[in-house]
Amino acid sequence: MIEARAVKKRFGHNEVLRGVSLSVARGEVVAIIGPSGSGKSTFLRCLNHLETIDSGHIAIEGEALATTDAQGHCRYVAEAELRRICAKTGMVFQHFNLFPHLTVLENLIEAPMVVQGVKRDEAVARAEALLAKVGLSPKRDNYPARLSGGQKQRVAIARALCMQPDIMLFDEPTSALDPELTGEVLRTMRELADERMTMLVVTHEMGFAREVAHRVAFMDGGELITARPAAEFFADPGHERARAFLQHML
Ligand code: ATP
Ligand code: MG
Repeated sequence: MIEARAVKKRFGHNEVLRGVSLSVARGEVVAIIGPSGSGKSTFLRCLNHLETIDSGHIAIEGEALATTDAQGHCRYVAEAELRRICAKTGMVFQHFNLFPHLTVLENLIEAPMVVQGVKRDEAVARAEALLAKVGLSPKRDNYPARLSGGQKQRVAIARALCMQPDIMLFDEPTSALDPELTGEVLRTMRELADERMTMLVVTHEMGFAREVAHRVAFMDGGELITARPAAEFFADPGHERARAFLQHML
């Protein structure tokens, strides 16, 4: 479960998040859509502390990461707490970010062993199960450079899952892929959704948003303009800017 309230973030004079609020329930899939530069990536990155917020509240699985008092002072929890809470989320990026010098299997077991102190045998067992799940067992000993974009992204998803997160954050996971490769990645994500993984997905894939997401959130100019059930959103976005964006996308 994710709880974000009145999250503000600026880069210099650029106010990138202007008080964004969004709650994602356990097992819920929310798609975030919106124009380039609207703050979608920044919002996602704030949720797992890849960026710090200036004010607002963020809680993951009921545990506060950052809170802001009545005087507007924003406070983060202590470093060790922060790490523990952020470990509840896994993130998948547009450009995969696999370790190029490690094989597929090594990519998967690295963080569980180094960060969680999991024994090698156990990490390998976890990794093999996840590679089977994303259909990449035969690629176990390959280096990322030998994989297609779709395969790389499925490895990236398996790698994030290897840390056993409660929540998965996806930032345009198919945007760097040739159209014929997006299907396999979306299929993997759909399976995760079917298993009731809590997911927040920044995407340009309106088909995915419509068919898999429970709710669609529209961001524009650093604001989260609306978040409504997917069917309702596509029938009527309920907001002029969202309607214009949707017309442009479809
Ligand atoms: P896109 O659809 O193109 O990925 P986005 O909605 O994800 O866009 P963000 O990447 O969150 O948008 O960027 C929001 C604004 O914040 C933009 O104006 C961007 O230039 C600015 N920004 C993002 N990251 C930084 C940074 N590290 N330093 C300075 N400005 C940044
Ligand atoms: Mg982005």
